[in-house]
Amino acid sequence: MTDSNHYGFILPEELILLRDQIRRFMREEVKPIEDKLPHDATGCSPEDLEHLRAIAEDMGLTRMAVPAEYGGNPASALTQIILAEESAKCRLGGYAPALNAFKGGPPNVIWGGTPAQKEKYGVPCVEGDANMFVAITEPTGGSDPRNNITTRAEKRGDKWYLNGRKMWITGAGLATYGIIFARTNDGEEGHPPQVTAFIVEPDFPGITFNEIKVIRALSPWEIVLEDCEVPDENVLGEVGQGFGVAQNWLVNARVPYAAGCIGIAQEALDMACGWVKQRPTRDGMLMDKQAIQWMIADSEVELKAARLLVYEAAARIDAGEPGKVDASICKLYGTETAGRVVDRAIQMFGGMGVAQEMPLERWYRELRVKRIGEGPSEVHRMVIARDKLRNTDGGVYFG
Ligand SMILES: Cc1cc2nc3c(=O)[nH]c(=O)nc-3n(C[C@H](O)[C@H](O)[C@H](O)COP(=O)(O)OP(=O)(O)OC[C@H]3O[C@@H](n4cnc5c(N)ncnc54)[C@H](O)[C@@H]3O)c2cc1C
Repeated sequence: MTDSNHYGFILPEELILLRDQIRRFMREEVKPIEDKLPHDATGCSPEDLEHLRAIAEDMGLTRMAVPAEYGGNPASALTQIILAEESAKCRLGGYAPALNAFKGGPPNVIWGGTPAQKEKYGVPCVEGDANMFVAITEPTGGSDPRNNITTRAEKRGDKWYLNGRKMWITGAGLATYGIIFARTNDGEEGHPPQVTAFIVEPDFPGITFNEIKVIRALSPWEIVLEDCEVPDENVLGEVGQGFGVAQNWLVNARVPYAAGCIGIAQEALDMACGWVKQRPTRDGMLMDKQAIQWMIADSEVELKAARLLVYEAAARIDAGEPGKVDASICKLYGTETAGRVVDRAIQMFGGMGVAQEMPLERWYRELRVKRIGEGPSEVHRMVIARDKLRNTDGGVYFG
């Protein structure tokens, strides 16, 4: 059976059913709780969260990125991006992941750790409320972390000592622990430095956190490391292989990231359609004006294209194909499309579009961040262009 509404990809029937089930859950259970929250709140009361999680648990929607042996309910990448798209329509589902109703678990990279690390750091995220940060970016620049990481880790006796600063790290000051990437070797002439991943707890000696206020409510943090003491057993993966450990996870995370942006933008467009259908003008309804219809048409086409890119990338991940360029395409087009669509939705609403009683202005701010986090647009353009140039022979005329 195929899906006949505006989600044009031919999804298997069970995924269509799942998607509709998530939509109902968001509409009937999550939205009423959201409606009671202050405009910029990033979470609800523990009781409400527990209530939502219990329902999500019953529906089999929790811990989809967690291996079964650690209490997970592992699902395909395609399933996870359907959840990401639908759940992003409400804050409690989507973009405050530490608080989300679906308990996605820790970033997958932790499941590549030692059995002791998985038990100590992975399981509490699954069973309890532990949450974590990932710190790569530094004040010297995040676009080229492989070369720019200057935070150093030096081994003395059986401990590592980290010195440096990390910048813009989401949720760091509130997390139970985090993964910090630090240089352990400068590498050979002409080669990038060797970087190692360390699991760090906030009460380790020598670590401080400073909140950075930004355009959205969920803050990133500066992390200052002054001889921060980390036990040797907290090295994640091999020494010098930090990016090797994290690479697949970093790349694959861009696909649900794009899906979440598409979900927000779809909701904004659907809201705008509802608005223009009931908004009169001097000579007819707003929906009958060409200027409005063109905004709706462009938004619908772009969202459909963005969604197909995301579905294809997820299908490739599920097929075990290398997905770096596909993930960059999704991240670039998904985030930029979503920004444009929400901007147009605000325009169709007029003054109401920027009123705080609507979610649009919050989405607008959130989506602005999405073009910078997880690699800014320019970096993804670079990845896509280099791949294209490498693999194109000049076509019929120049080949
Ligand atoms: C709210 C928020 C949350 C974040 N959360 C995290 C987190 O949890 N963990 C983490 O590690 N990082 C996080 N980041 C950091 C984010 O990944 C970086 O901001 C991003 O990688 C860009 O790095 P930068 O800010 O240092 O900009 P820069 O690297 O200084 O770049 C500045 C601008 O120049 C462009 N640019 C850079 N190099 C080139 C080039 N060669 N050619 C053309 N243009 C170029 C960039 O695209 C960008 O537009 C977060 C950022 C924000 C804003």
